[in-house]
Amino acid sequence: MRHRRQSVAAKVGKVRIGGDAPIVVQSMTNTDTADVEGTVQQVRSLARAGSELVRITVNSDEAAAAVPKIRERLDQLGCDVPLIGDFHFNGHKLLKTHAGCAEALAKYRINPGNVGRGSRRDPQFAEMIEIACRHAKPIRIGVNWGSLDPELLTRMMDENNAAATPRSANEIMRAAVVESCLQSAARAEALGQPRDGIVLSAKVSGVQDLIAIYTELAARCDYPLHLGLTEAGMGSKGIVASTAGIGVLLQAGIGDTIRVSLTPEPGGDRSQEVIVAQEILQTMGLRAFMPMVIACPGCGRTTSTYFQELAQSIQGHIRHRMPEWRKAYVGVEDMNVAVMGCVVNGPGESKHANIGISLPGTGERPVAPVYEDGEKTVTLKGARIAEEFQELVERYVARRYPPRETR
Ligand code: SF4
Repeated sequence: MRHRRQSVAAKVGKVRIGGDAPIVVQSMTNTDTADVEGTVQQVRSLARAGSELVRITVNSDEAAAAVPKIRERLDQLGCDVPLIGDFHFNGHKLLKTHAGCAEALAKYRINPGNVGRGSRRDPQFAEMIEIACRHAKPIRIGVNWGSLDPELLTRMMDENNAAATPRSANEIMRAAVVESCLQSAARAEALGQPRDGIVLSAKVSGVQDLIAIYTELAARCDYPLHLGLTEAGMGSKGIVASTAGIGVLLQAGIGDTIRVSLTPEPGGDRSQEVIVAQEILQTMGLRAFMPMVIACPGCGRTTSTYFQELAQSIQGHIRHRMPEWRKAYVGVEDMNVAVMGCVVNGPGESKHANIGISLPGTGERPVAPVYEDGEKTVTLKGARIAEEFQELVERYVARRYPPRETR
């Protein structure tokens, strides 16, 4: 039985993070924020894919000046996804100089390791908190081991070296990440930031480090926690590493919002990170975003690629139709669709799904029985099986899920 860790709830624009709110999916753009139109398009596409918060880099005067324009343009386009500003090094200056930026953002991400060095660190951190308080904005204390506060780390390493039984350098790194989070959050509260206006994250690139650090953070505070591996990587490596780390923590009840930081292929779709984050939550049974396509892996009984093509085309059709279905029908995201390769498990799995098709395997009769709510309703054959099955799915959705207005 999974018990969710108790946390206070923070409000980021219209989105609640923590408390009893659903676990929130977020993402980040990789456009130059000073490019208003390019950033607007990418934010829209991430929001359309299901990102409930979108973070944008705010690293220059040009970027900060663009933020209110991006917000305004998104609002005009009917896209109300809250924007989070990602600040490093000069955040205090940018927020002070660009009040429109400070107001347009729904949350500020502050990296305590990159706020300023030496005697400048505390006043610059205080300046950012003061602006957050003035604009009533929540903050995320976002520690990253790649930019860990060097003074804190050095002090902890020195203390460890002087200890009778020193811990390993990796243990000290983990402890320093946790301390940086907790000390910065305490400082923010002391400066007036409300307790329910603070979210914590502690990004590292190793799965075991991630699990150890968040387990410790979860035990020591009740701020909402934002999970994600940093520099997770490309393709399957990034997906597997993120899923392993985030999945273990979510199962332990830890995590109020997640981001899957994938490195896109050149020219690849940035929205992939949103889809993976949703799939982690949905496959774990924590949230439902999209009808699930259950497809068998195929084997020696499916010697043609037809079965893979049909599974892919159904998946694509559902993803394409979902924005409209979501608006029109209540509960459609809970639908299961089975696409199976032969009679061995095909009929059985299809009967468990809301709607399923069992394709003919090699040597089987060239017919494809369809099951709806456990009953065989029709048998498809011929060259248009894919199109006819999609039409059946459309009709099933319209019949099975109540129209949204009548709710
Ligand atoms: S359902 Fe049939 S085709 Fe699919 S994996 Fe099982 S035996 Fe192979």
